[in-house]
Amino acid sequence: MKLTELFKKDGQLLSFEVFPPKTDSAFDSVKSATEEIAKLRPSFMSVTYGAGGGTSKYTLEIAKNIKAQYGVPTLAHLTCVSSTRETVKARIEDMKAAGIQNVMALRGDLTPELMNSDRSGWVYQHAEDLIRELKEANADFCIGGACYPEVHPESANQADDIRHLKEKVEAGCEFLTTQMFFDNNLLYNFLYKIREQGITVPIVPGIMPITNAKQMKRSIEMSGCYVPQRFKSLLDKFGSSPAAMKQAGIAYATDQIIDLYANGIKNVHVYSMNNPDVAQKIQSNLSDIIG
Ligand code: FAD
Repeated sequence: MKLTELFKKDGQLLSFEVFPPKTDSAFDSVKSATEEIAKLRPSFMSVTYGAGGGTSKYTLEIAKNIKAQYGVPTLAHLTCVSSTRETVKARIEDMKAAGIQNVMALRGDLTPELMNSDRSGWVYQHAEDLIRELKEANADFCIGGACYPEVHPESANQADDIRHLKEKVEAGCEFLTTQMFFDNNLLYNFLYKIREQGITVPIVPGIMPITNAKQMKRSIEMSGCYVPQRFKSLLDKFGSSPAAMKQAGIAYATDQIIDLYANGIKNVHVYSMNNPDVAQKIQSNLSDIIG
């Protein structure tokens, strides 16, 4: 099923994200974790694309398996940073062969080496270039893209970021999933601004349940997200107790999700990080709200 069709359904929807293994030996355990999450019958599951593309075959294998075994619609991620046209075209052909209907078109992160290299000759400078390639592939993919309520770190300001986001949508991006955020007001403010600029595609907020203090540090370093005092207090109080922190992190994420639904958001995406237990607890907290 195309996700744009899914987003037209009535009621509140919940989806989960998983990531592929980095090594062959981890494949079976990752596959089984993703299957446990698929058994929860989320509205869809996204499967990320390992930076550098070394694990691209696993993204497709896992996406294919979830759809075939559990009937859960899947969204396969694809990045294009520093890739040649041949490589990208080959990966698009792989997606077609795997029967992928939904693709998350991303540029991918610039490593410090890539950041300092001469990028003028790159075929794919931005996600928008990948979207054009996907449109030309004649595969009728439903294409999604990423957006940043707190502004992408490379953008000079939010107005520039939203201008480029609009170009991405005009290139063929049919829905947008957000970077994680811990303060819903940032999302509401962002929504107001993008709608004002004529971006009308469905927005899928991405919520990261923080279940341990180390994960918090890593997530903030990578995303640069604002951490509200309310969340910092949870970390101060429960950060040293793994079980308590997990419970508090799940409760915080649940609270964010309920508030998003209450404010008219249709589908919330949870960065479930291959963790069936966290996915199950969040879903069960929302059992009478979703569906
Ligand atoms: P772009 O849309 O290209 O934007 C990057 C920057 O360039 C922004 O500052 C934007 O404003 C600017 N820009 C865009 N177009 C133009 C233009 N035409 N001219 C000038 N500037 C422009 N990474 C992975 O490696 N694998 C994944 O699976 C993955 N999944 C993700 C899922 C989500 C929901 C999100 C939010 C991020 C994900 N990432 C993933 C990380 C992502 O690759 C990085 O955030 C990356 O730095 C930007 O990717 P993008 O597709 O948003 O890039």
